[in-house]
Amino acid sequence: MIPPLMPTYARADVAFERGEGAYLFAADGRRYLDFGAGVAVVALGHCHPHLVEALARQAGALWHCSNLYRIPGQERLAERLVENTFADSVFFANSGAEAVECGLKMIRKHFDDTGSPGRYRVITCAGGFHGRTLATIAAGRQEKHLTGFDPVVDGFDQVAFGNLDELRAAITDETAAILIEPVQGEGGIHPAALEYLRGLREVADEYGLLLFFDEIQCGMGRTGKLFAHEWAGMAPDILAAGKGLGGGFPVGACLATEKAAAALSAGSHGSTFGGNPLAMAAANAVLDVVLADGFLDRVDAVARLLWKRLESLVEAHPKVLGGLRGAGLMVGLACVFDNGTLVAHLRDNGLLTVPAADNVVRLLPPLVIEERHVDEAMAILERSCAELADRAA
Ligand SMILES: *Cc1c(COP(=O)(O)O)cnc(C)c1O
Repeated sequence: MIPPLMPTYARADVAFERGEGAYLFAADGRRYLDFGAGVAVVALGHCHPHLVEALARQAGALWHCSNLYRIPGQERLAERLVENTFADSVFFANSGAEAVECGLKMIRKHFDDTGSPGRYRVITCAGGFHGRTLATIAAGRQEKHLTGFDPVVDGFDQVAFGNLDELRAAITDETAAILIEPVQGEGGIHPAALEYLRGLREVADEYGLLLFFDEIQCGMGRTGKLFAHEWAGMAPDILAAGKGLGGGFPVGACLATEKAAAALSAGSHGSTFGGNPLAMAAANAVLDVVLADGFLDRVDAVARLLWKRLESLVEAHPKVLGGLRGAGLMVGLACVFDNGTLVAHLRDNGLLTVPAADNVVRLLPPLVIEERHVDEAMAILERSCAELADRAA
């Protein structure tokens, strides 16, 4: 018999009751160090005092009023995102997939408006993930996400991640844009080479394509810059943000240059909840912290410390770990045997991580972790790897 809760997830049998910083507390009182952060969502840790205060204040003033009226929190958040990124204008949604949908609609409308309605196809990369709506599963083109959901939304062509020649060869008169994650998350933590990102910009300019980055997982400070592409010293035309943007409150954003954003005028796109006052209070509070002097430098420093320690771990446990990759606090540990086994074992030992494709275990800790959290995580990782190596022997 089907349970009342639709069984769309294979859930671990743990229920959390309370969170504090990098820790979660289960109903049975057990404490876990959270290096999954709700899949890169709880960027400032659980119940960060500044976010709690901002959200409580907003909850006592105004929850929702609709986009029929001005929402000062939206204006402020948009101004701050514009000030700190390549973008000239921002649309607010409730999720990552909706932010990607906004960008995809913007692309079609841009070419329709500029006299090329036949240009609508978007080139995406193998291993990419862009959400679970009909259009975004078509963009991701993962067999397991598409099976049973035919017909697949038209307009996406897939090429290998990191291969500019293959991408150039896939461009036709109908190509409108390129959509990629600068660091693939669900696909197994694959960072694009910075040279490749710069190459994408050149190709896009050469063929008049819009360049669309999905930074829903790798953005919002996770790599030590506000957005990961900044490491490459270039910029896209459109960018989708989500996950960490609200620090745990559902919010997505589609950032765009004036040229791209001009396509969406009054009536052409919308959302009931998108950018409501509660979401804007949360996201503005996240930005207060992330944009504060020195915050991103501290993320970079703690990430370098974690990487150094993880390199030794991988070296010491070749029977369990096959490698290490990623960027900043977005780390993938390649597993020798089933990644689910390591995730479950780490959880039993008090450390929460997230599995990804390619048999990878993802470490996505809150950006506020300190050396002591790295020490604690490493102790659990060392112990768990040793135990699993013993078991395999
Ligand atoms: C999580 C994620 C999405 C989808 O976000 P939702 O909020 O689940 O819709 C899209 N792209 C990337 C890169 C993601 O990591």
